[in-house]
Amino acid sequence: MDPGYHLMELPTKVLIGEGVISKLGEFLKDSAAGKRVVVASGSNVASKVREAVESALPKEPVWVEVVAADMVNVDRVMAAASGSGCIVGVGGGKSVDVGKLAAFKLHMAFFSVPTSASHDGISSPFASLKGLDRPYSVMAKPPVGILADIAIIASAPRRLLASGCGDLVSKLTAVKDWELAHRVTGEYYGSYSASLALMSANAVLDRSKSLGIFGRDSVRELVEALISTGVAAGIAGSSRPCSGSEHLFSHYLDLLAPESGLHGEKCGIGTIMMAKLHRIDWRRVRMALKNVGAPVEASQIGVGDSMVIESLMKASSIRPDRYTILSRKKLTRKSAALLAKSTGVI
Ligand code: ZN
Repeated sequence: MDPGYHLMELPTKVLIGEGVISKLGEFLKDSAAGKRVVVASGSNVASKVREAVESALPKEPVWVEVVAADMVNVDRVMAAASGSGCIVGVGGGKSVDVGKLAAFKLHMAFFSVPTSASHDGISSPFASLKGLDRPYSVMAKPPVGILADIAIIASAPRRLLASGCGDLVSKLTAVKDWELAHRVTGEYYGSYSASLALMSANAVLDRSKSLGIFGRDSVRELVEALISTGVAAGIAGSSRPCSGSEHLFSHYLDLLAPESGLHGEKCGIGTIMMAKLHRIDWRRVRMALKNVGAPVEASQIGVGDSMVIESLMKASSIRPDRYTILSRKKLTRKSAALLAKSTGVI
């Protein structure tokens, strides 16, 4: 039942540009309040930016190496954070998710310092963790601040940047699912946050060729679009504008093949098929993904035909409270196979 009100939580500041990592100390100053900061980071990322992070901070930070996005690592960050001023997640996915949830549980300020742009978790109020009772994101709080150094992000592997584009196009079908749910179940629908999320999808759909070069300007646009979708979720007070049937498909694939493909890659492939179910231009989605170098066929991420079909059939069961086109269509094995084949996914 829609209570008729909701809370909007948003990041308060974003610093974006080339070389801004050197301003990290200044950026955190008010929240750190003279105390040490805890930096959650993966080992690869730490070796790449450790020097830059340490020279930007007035006190040597406490580094916690995040090895997996799970509660064990959240607990390790929480234990290290005692007596510190704030938590900073430096990295692509895991470190930001783990740091965000640790800070949320401790009621501490969290800052996100993305080193790649592979999904919208860099700014959203959600954290994706393994080993919870459900295979999708949990609600936490958005980062207080996001510091995005374009020079660092532009040097990330192209595969990660292309994956970010996959997470962006997925807003197209997420918003369609949200509209559908509003019509069918009467749940709250916010046209402002829906438009904001769509704007981010259109950044890829309208400009995939130039974006796919991944020069400094296009990386900046990609990062701004990802930050903006996290803000759209903050305004909506739910992940609705950012996550629909294509995300359910991706989450189901996570269960079947946990090591195959990146989040944005799976969501992008899901978007092609969900767009067809919604009777919107799925070929345009496919072409945009191809133009940025993101996978459009399941085999490109090592996922077999049967896994795609099973995910299409069962994805809606992992989150029955979320009404999407998959709840309406109730695909059979035959219709799921037809959908995947007709869109070139299998
Ligand atoms: Zn996503």
